[in-house]
Amino acid sequence: MSVRAKIRLYVEQSLGPGQSVPLSREQAHYLFGVMRQVVGGAVLLFNGRDGEWQAGIAEAGKRGGLLICEAQTAPLQMPPDLWLLFAPIKKTRTDFIVEKAAELGAARICPVQTAFTNAERIRQDRLQAHAVEAAEQCGGTFVPEVAGLQRLDTLLSDWPEDRHLIFADEALVGAKAALEAAPKADEWAILIGPEGGFDPSERARLHDLPFVTPISLGPRILRADTAAVAALTLFQATRGDWE
Ligand code: SAH
Repeated sequence: MSVRAKIRLYVEQSLGPGQSVPLSREQAHYLFGVMRQVVGGAVLLFNGRDGEWQAGIAEAGKRGGLLICEAQTAPLQMPPDLWLLFAPIKKTRTDFIVEKAAELGAARICPVQTAFTNAERIRQDRLQAHAVEAAEQCGGTFVPEVAGLQRLDTLLSDWPEDRHLIFADEALVGAKAALEAAPKADEWAILIGPEGGFDPSERARLHDLPFVTPISLGPRILRADTAAVAALTLFQATRGDWE
């Protein structure tokens, strides 16, 4: 294989030795129009399932093109089984949370409607595209799924008991982080509230649930987007894949 390609592209097709990957109009526009790639060049492909592959450009056109997989350059690397539950906030801050969650290794991103959440709707497809773009840029071989907006109370009623929930509770500001209080588990979730924080009855319910460990994120109240990054970092460094 020649020099390692620099452009990374997410595709939906299966990847394997000699596998041909036809390109959509948008992908062709990006590779050949924007990135000025030509026949004979190479790109890196991943689909979230088969690891990363170097592929040669066999055909390049305005409306399409063809790539041929040459060799695997990285195996699939799964993040820990960690969901990020967060209350959607303003558009750009929500985009930021999805991007950072994909970079920091969340396995699934779940927007939740809490008592004080203002958003009624989310653009799930747009958020998913942000997760794909983040994976393309950070060298990830896995793309977290962005789930549809769900009500937190329903989600808690149907909760899979083996999944341990780390609840970032702003009422604990100034306390010790205390993630070590959480039991050993293989399945995890982190919950971050909206700018308005949690409603007292919501908080009381969360504190009572057997699968929940409330934690503090330090002596200052963080904005929801900062809190998401801080909690993911804390988790990956102590229970996740940075250990
Ligand atoms: N308006 C609220 C703060 C909400 S901050 C207040 O003034 O109390 C948004 C979310 O970030 C919170 O719901 C919580 O999940 C998380 N968060 C921010 N700072 C935190 C801290 N110091 N400890 C724990 N969680 C925090």
